Amino acid sequence: MTQCPFCKTELIIERREIEKGVWATVEVCPNCTDEWIDETEHDRLVGLFKRKTFNLGGSIAVRIPKEIADLLSISAGTLVNFTVQDGKLVIAKT
Ligand SMILES: [Zn+2]
Repeated sequence: MTQCPFCKTELIIERREIEKGVWATVEVCPNCTDEWIDETEHDRLVGLFKRKTFNLGGSIAVRIPKEIADLLSISAGTLVNFTVQDGKLVIAKT
């Protein structure tokens, strides 16, 4: 068992929605109510939202992570609009 680094209480492992639609296994201190994510879970979450582009016909394509698509109600056939803001690609539903 892991202890809270502040109050040394035994941490409880829970599944929590850390952002809308994104669930993670976290360790919670029942005393401080702070929560921590272990390194493996952190890496899993980072990997969840990282995608590699690929060629599709003459275009460059990228898969939208299911968690993000579900969160924004995007499915196959949804019309989206591309814009560039501060050097970043922004894809928004029309
Ligand atoms: Zn604590």
